[in-house]
Amino acid sequence: MSLSNVIFAIILIVALGFFTRSARRLIRWLKIGRPEVRTDHPNTRTGNLLAIGIAQTKILRDPIGGMMHALVFWGFCVLGLGTMEIMIQGLVTGFSYSWILPSFLYLPYVISQELFAVFVLIPVSFLLYRRLVIKPARFRNDPVHGGDAVFILSMIGALMVSLLLLFAMEIRTGAPTDGRVISHLLASLFSGVSPVTAHVIARSAWWFHAVLILYFLNHLPGSKHLHVLTSLINVWFSNTSGPGTVGAMRPMDLEAENAEQFGASDVEHLSWKNLLDGYSCTECGRCTAVCPANITGKALSPRMIVVKTRARLTEKAQLLDLMQGAEPTTEQVAVLDHKLLDGWITEEELWACTSCRACVVECPVSIDQLDIINELRRDLMLMESRFPEELQPALQSLERNGSPWAFSPTDRTSWAEGLDVPTMAELAARDEQPDILFWVGCMGSFDDRAKKITVAFARILQAANVKFAILGQEESCHGDPARRMGNEYLYQILAKGVIETLDGYKVKTIVTFCPHCFHQMGKEFPDLGGHYDVIHHTEYIEQLLNEGRVPLETEHGQRLKVAYHDSCYLGRYNDVYDAPRNTLKKALPIIDLVEPVRTKSRGLCCGAGGGRMWMEENVGKRVNVERSEELLATGADQIAVACPFCMTMITDGVTGAGSNVPVLDISEVVASRLLASHA
Ligand code: SF4
Ligand code: SF4
Repeated sequence: MSLSNVIFAIILIVALGFFTRSARRLIRWLKIGRPEVRTDHPNTRTGNLLAIGIAQTKILRDPIGGMMHALVFWGFCVLGLGTMEIMIQGLVTGFSYSWILPSFLYLPYVISQELFAVFVLIPVSFLLYRRLVIKPARFRNDPVHGGDAVFILSMIGALMVSLLLLFAMEIRTGAPTDGRVISHLLASLFSGVSPVTAHVIARSAWWFHAVLILYFLNHLPGSKHLHVLTSLINVWFSNTSGPGTVGAMRPMDLEAENAEQFGASDVEHLSWKNLLDGYSCTECGRCTAVCPANITGKALSPRMIVVKTRARLTEKAQLLDLMQGAEPTTEQVAVLDHKLLDGWITEEELWACTSCRACVVECPVSIDQLDIINELRRDLMLMESRFPEELQPALQSLERNGSPWAFSPTDRTSWAEGLDVPTMAELAARDEQPDILFWVGCMGSFDDRAKKITVAFARILQAANVKFAILGQEESCHGDPARRMGNEYLYQILAKGVIETLDGYKVKTIVTFCPHCFHQMGKEFPDLGGHYDVIHHTEYIEQLLNEGRVPLETEHGQRLKVAYHDSCYLGRYNDVYDAPRNTLKKALPIIDLVEPVRTKSRGLCCGAGGGRMWMEENVGKRVNVERSEELLATGADQIAVACPFCMTMITDGVTGAGSNVPVLDISEVVASRLLASHA
């Protein structure tokens, strides 16, 4: 072993020792969080890892910046092999993979190294240019790690330059070119460098590169680029309990959970996965750039929710490490009391969230920002009774009337007068079962505008000869609004009551036009033992149209330009994007379906979700106004929606904009085309 091998071995051992210590500390800090099982559905998780982690499908949603980041990632994967070779060279002088690889494998390896060094250098230069010169909106006011991003990008750039310099100088010393076109070209730039000087430069470049890699490895655990180490792990453990529960809220066992704490006020109440999210955030700001609350000037930034969670974990964990179980001093008590809720994240931020899931869908490393918001809301609601006073009447009404609006249950069927719609009780009395239960929902039962949707859908069902029934006065809110507001206790009482009613009638298939009911009963009821086939009315009408069961006018009438607004709970929560559009096209053969700027999985929320329907919106621009303006900007003759909440918000926004463009539910569009004999 030469002296340089010994020196490198010492540097390597010290660097790996420090890295191991940092990694163990980070894992220890994760254990401050609540335990949570995240090893179910291994195949789905591995599929996510391959698609989101390796193929980088989510980051590529941003075609330019995404491709640049993906190239850096793929480059690092390929260059990792070269890094191993360099580390071994430090211990065994002159080591080369050519010693162990046949030439048909070694040659592609050699070429891949120089090629990917360039592939990484180009995007890194672009990303540096973007950070320092272009400065996109989402990077401005980066209060936490803007400087670190530049430092890391510069370090990656230096690694690539030193690698390419090493390759070029090796060629100047007379090493075989081995098909290395790029290195050969670079070497020709240094034609005046003698082989001896080239050897010195090559050795210097090698040492610089090797030591910088080891420094980089040790810089990562304390930097925003910790995600380089954790993001693939985070993607594997991300929220995906199977396709059926995408977007479902974490179930809470109110009896089994620690009765002293519901929800989270500090990091120890969050799960270890929420804390791993903090480690994995790249601080790219993609989530904040699509957040309707942030876009319209509210205090909420989903990026900062994650960044602050990580900062609080670091603050608290460092203190606990220091205290080693001893009694805290007065200063230490102040740090312990500086909780995530209030100390870092304010109530104002939390209540601004519409639960639209745009942040979750956009995050390239599958972080669930909404999960943290929901847990903090649960603490506010259940532990501290701190919530906007406007929510009080809705919560009281849910408790007393089984609806967030103060209507009597006896009014639930007023819309059905004269329509000959049977109830489940009436069918049961005749020992009959309907094909479907039409779940009307609270808005469809009580809201004057939404009742017109209810009637339109009932007419379609009757025209298509579907045997259906409603629960009538036995229907009651399933508690979704309470759950989204953070009141899990009230939610579970209401949901269990509904499940009991449904099971009492042996209900199997439910059709509803409310995406919140659709999501809640279809995707979240299974956690409470309610298992039903729940279909949204747009999917059901599409199916009826495909079967030729809906008698429509054959006259096409006037050509219409229609803009469809995606509901969050239908689209981002349940991936239903095509059925509403297909239904529109089938019902209106002469149609120009136009898309607003933000559409489908990137569609902007109407502003009503997450309990916001019942809250004032006094800060910034109203979300529904922003969205309505986007829809009107398409020049549409009609706006179509598929959610009664969206109906209210978009109608208000359109009216507020001084427009008289009609806003119609998809069932109303179809019902308006029913043959006169069925209309
Ligand atoms: S769920 Fe929607 S409103 Fe809430 S933080 Fe995410 S993007 Fe913003
Ligand atoms: S949470 Fe995800 S999308 Fe948001 S800043 Fe972090 S990595 Fe980017």
